[in-house]
Amino acid sequence: MTTPLPATLLIVDDTPENIAVLFTFLSGQGFKVLVAETGEDALENAHEEQPDLILLDVLMPGIDGFETCRRLKSDLSTQEIPVIFITALSDTLDKVKAFKLGAVDYITKPFQQEEVLARVNTHLTIRRLQQELQAQKAALEQANLELQRLATLDSLTKVANRRRLDEYLQREWRRGVREQTPLSLILCDIDYFKNYNDNYGHQAGDDCLQQVAEAISKAVKRPGDLVARYGGEEFTVILPHTFLEGANQVAHFIQHNLRELKIVHSHSSVDEYVTLSIGVATMVPHPQKTPEQLVGMADSALYEAKKQGRNRIVLNDGLK
Ligand SMILES: [Mg+2]
Repeated sequence: MTTPLPATLLIVDDTPENIAVLFTFLSGQGFKVLVAETGEDALENAHEEQPDLILLDVLMPGIDGFETCRRLKSDLSTQEIPVIFITALSDTLDKVKAFKLGAVDYITKPFQQEEVLARVNTHLTIRRLQQELQAQKAALEQANLELQRLATLDSLTKVANRRRLDEYLQREWRRGVREQTPLSLILCDIDYFKNYNDNYGHQAGDDCLQQVAEAISKAVKRPGDLVARYGGEEFTVILPHTFLEGANQVAHFIQHNLRELKIVHSHSSVDEYVTLSIGVATMVPHPQKTPEQLVGMADSALYEAKKQGRNRIVLNDGLK
């Protein structure tokens, strides 16, 4: 365990002798001690100095301890600071009022210094444990988010994985049925990728897949669009609310981006660089149809693109 910095205490009391006694004692115990003689000063001081704990007198001219406590607890910047009341009042009702206002403890005058020290230490410990717990909780939530993100990503290319693609397609299909808006799907396949892997090795093949994934991702601009690895050297783009013409444009952007990368492929029969065959399909989702049919249409278009000589885009609006 690391040694914590000395805790900072704020003493609030309108009687200088009371302050002097507590100041001498608590400073002697190693605390950093701040003082305020009015409620107004205490509020300002607490806001600026962020003490770890406040010892608060009840009876003071101006705003009293109760009102000071109420204001501390209603200010976001000071509401977490533990407040211990110190007062000569021993009325039960006042103690109840103190706790209702958010104080953590109550010490009546005349007090024993050892009692003050014990209570201060107890509440500093509780506060520190609460803060540690909050920090752990935040770290855990962050780790959970990261896990969720990783569970939906393809580890090699960092685009969505097949599982995420399937979920997303189902979701957008249902939305399309409800809203009767077109849903487009693009299937891309790297031409002669087997030759690429066989000749340049799997490490180079992985690099190629990553670059292609990036070229595709760059072509896809809207937050609702999803790029996914369909498997092997195939990638998919889901484009909600998109007609065939819009999807065709995205497919052209993809090919443009890939051409710019100039990934040399001397073992391709269509070009000196890595190229893509692309099938594009659009449907207005219908309850009597399935998203698998949309994928099938894109797949037919992709097959057609391969058949026509690769490195091209073929569109399928389901009419032919
Ligand atoms: Mg007083």
